[in-house]
Amino acid sequence: MPSKIQKEGPFEGALKQLEKTRKLISLEENIYAQLKAPKRFLQVSIPVRMDNGSVRVFTGYRSQYNDSRGPYKGGIRFHPDVNESEVKALSMWMTWKCAVVGIPLGGGKGGVIVNPRELSVGELERLSRGYIQAVFAFLGPQLDVPAPDVYTDPKIMGWMLDEYEKLLGHHAPGVITGKPLSIGGSAARGYSTAQGGVYVLSNAAAKLKLSKDAKVAIQGFGNAGSNMADLLAKKGYKIVAVSDSKGAIYKAKGLDVAALAAHKQKTGGVANFAGAQKLEDIIGCDCDILVLAALENSVTLENAKSIKAKLVFELANGPVSPGADEVLAGDGVSIIPDILANAGGVAVSYFEQAQNASNYYWTEAEVLQKLEKLMNDAFDAVWERKEKYKTTLRLGAHILAVERVAQAMRDRGLN
Ligand code: NAD
Repeated sequence: MPSKIQKEGPFEGALKQLEKTRKLISLEENIYAQLKAPKRFLQVSIPVRMDNGSVRVFTGYRSQYNDSRGPYKGGIRFHPDVNESEVKALSMWMTWKCAVVGIPLGGGKGGVIVNPRELSVGELERLSRGYIQAVFAFLGPQLDVPAPDVYTDPKIMGWMLDEYEKLLGHHAPGVITGKPLSIGGSAARGYSTAQGGVYVLSNAAAKLKLSKDAKVAIQGFGNAGSNMADLLAKKGYKIVAVSDSKGAIYKAKGLDVAALAAHKQKTGGVANFAGAQKLEDIIGCDCDILVLAALENSVTLENAKSIKAKLVFELANGPVSPGADEVLAGDGVSIIPDILANAGGVAVSYFEQAQNASNYYWTEAEVLQKLEKLMNDAFDAVWERKEKYKTTLRLGAHILAVERVAQAMRDRGLN
């Protein structure tokens, strides 16, 4: 069985992280007070005509956390467990993430409570267009810019862009990123989260002296996790374990990632992959690097002690609960925090917007070159804060982020 994922109120955890960070850098009260809640939080009802003629009403959210460094930025999640606390936490983390990689964007996030797998393609399109109709007035290339997240993809972004432009009456491709290439998407955006992760992991592996044939386990085999598996395998890492929502598998000699992706495509999951053993629990499996690429709170106080990896890599947002974070730090496990580890996606989203604004498109090689520099610089800046404050990489990243956001707020006279 895949590991159990619990909901522990991610926003509470995110606020605790902020409080810890604030104490370390003596953030002034006037700024702290403004960072404790989103600037705007929308809840909308989205009526959708179902194929059988009935109308079903879905609940959607958009959280606009902070825009002192630039327009709100963050994905839209379609998932049955979407809730207010999760959307708020994710929007706060987006604020920090954009600051960590130094791109001129703020933080936002959206979601709809839905299991998209239960909808027909037509129903999914009407829901996607309905979400845009509901939040239209609050979106724009200079205001708030959505992107894909869990169970949303470029196809959905294409529908959403089309709906937005129809309502607006003219083109505005920079309102959404993660679009298909034919309508203003960026080269490399499809695998940019994982690619950014690989750049960060290479830096971390060098600092922590991990060998290149290290054994890697990956929880979650969606956009982020499957691309990470593919890129790491190509770099010589041994991918020994992989899981998704339906099961987990292990092969000590290393999995053939391309064949596994084909198996998942065909059967809908990673389970029952030929030559691999069924795994009960990927979190505690025998590996050197554990990549978390599913959802929040995968590692909690319940399972943190079972981790054998020396390095935990947060490709997902918020996969380690605050309590588990302390347990792992105490056990000497290094954690590469989400706001650095998975920032490659939003970095290329920013490149996508830059290309849309100039209506001039870059090659894949140009995008990757810029991404590598951005991620290396972010890693160095985080590492520098970690050393300076003699703390963890997570707090180093949060210190860097809060410093940058707070500076923008001071420069606007908001202190
Ligand atoms: P996705 O929907 O493509 O994939 C999610 C994967 O997690 C699926 O394989 C699903 O089966 C698996 N999963 C769900 N529950 C699980 C469980 N209990 N155990 C094991 N696996 C489980 O989503 P994604 O875009 O890859 O996003 C994954 C995480 O990465 C999320 O936290 C997301 O916010 C974060 N992230 C994604 C991007 C991006 O560009 N895709 C960018 C930044 C952060």
